[in-house]
Amino acid sequence: MIVALAGGVGAARFLEGLIRVIPQSEITVIGNVGDDIELHGLHISPDLDIVVYTLAGLVDPVKGWGFRGDTFQCQDMLHNFDHETWFNLGDRDLATHIYRTEQLRVGKRLSEVTRGVVRHLGVRIKLLPATDTPLQTYVLTTKGYMHFEEYMVKRQTAPKVLGVSFRGATSAKPTRNVIESIEKADGVIIAPSNPIVSIGAILAVPGIRSALQRTKARKVGVSPIIGGKTVKGPAAKLMRAVGFRATALGVAECYRDFLDTLIIDRVDRKLAPEIQDMGIRTIVTNTLMKRMSDKVRLAKIAVRETKR
Ligand code: GDP
Repeated sequence: MIVALAGGVGAARFLEGLIRVIPQSEITVIGNVGDDIELHGLHISPDLDIVVYTLAGLVDPVKGWGFRGDTFQCQDMLHNFDHETWFNLGDRDLATHIYRTEQLRVGKRLSEVTRGVVRHLGVRIKLLPATDTPLQTYVLTTKGYMHFEEYMVKRQTAPKVLGVSFRGATSAKPTRNVIESIEKADGVIIAPSNPIVSIGAILAVPGIRSALQRTKARKVGVSPIIGGKTVKGPAAKLMRAVGFRATALGVAECYRDFLDTLIIDRVDRKLAPEIQDMGIRTIVTNTLMKRMSDKVRLAKIAVRETKR
């Protein structure tokens, strides 16, 4: 079993390659729930949904989230009621949130509901939310604390960030099978995701980080930072805000206590010696996933490295 730690868009694109390299039945993805938010009375799990919609071949390829070809009529109508509509929810997408919310209300765990979403959309990987207990990522800005989605979507990452915290993390429990799957994995891959808020929120769940340190599986990361920039999203900004360098070196620093290998981009090849000095093997290759062939090639390199 290959276990992958995953956030949203970057991770989902990598996983599209991974499912073409190894069978879906041999992949367990531990997903981020720190971005989860309740809106319009509905429980939204943005990163879990991005992973499922992408692997189902249904994601909007331009946005990287939501369903391809979705309409926004419900949202337009809510706007007429002066309802806050800064978080875009398509009409078909709403069905997922209605299903999830209803199932949670009758007492199912998020992991059980997620299994249903995965199955109904025809995906066969095992997707485990890092925790079934509430954990939410908050960003401390000069304008005060705000939920990560408010910072990201409503405020478009404009406020200056002073810190990041994970509400509920100290009492959070890893979802059943998360620790066991890491301990028994044949390899662990840290997908190219935001190290602070996506992978960071997974690592904030007590027990997950120590399981990564303990497991005999090789742990291979893919840097989401290329040439000191993020491909998309606020990773570089957030890394700087919490005291890391916004480079592949900073990514290595985030994971240095458990990572065996970091895959970095060719443009960052000069950083390889310093990463190796941290005791992390470094592979230099093209890490920008434009086409499916890029995703498959990157996934092959990562899988091969877990078997080293
Ligand atoms: P989010 O929740 O949608 O922000 O998704 P993630 O946590 O998965 O983070 C997005 C990260 O993926 C960003 O830091 C991007 O730089 C990274 N990313 C997106 N596309 C690529 C790519 O093609 N190659 C690499 N190496 N990183 C990517």
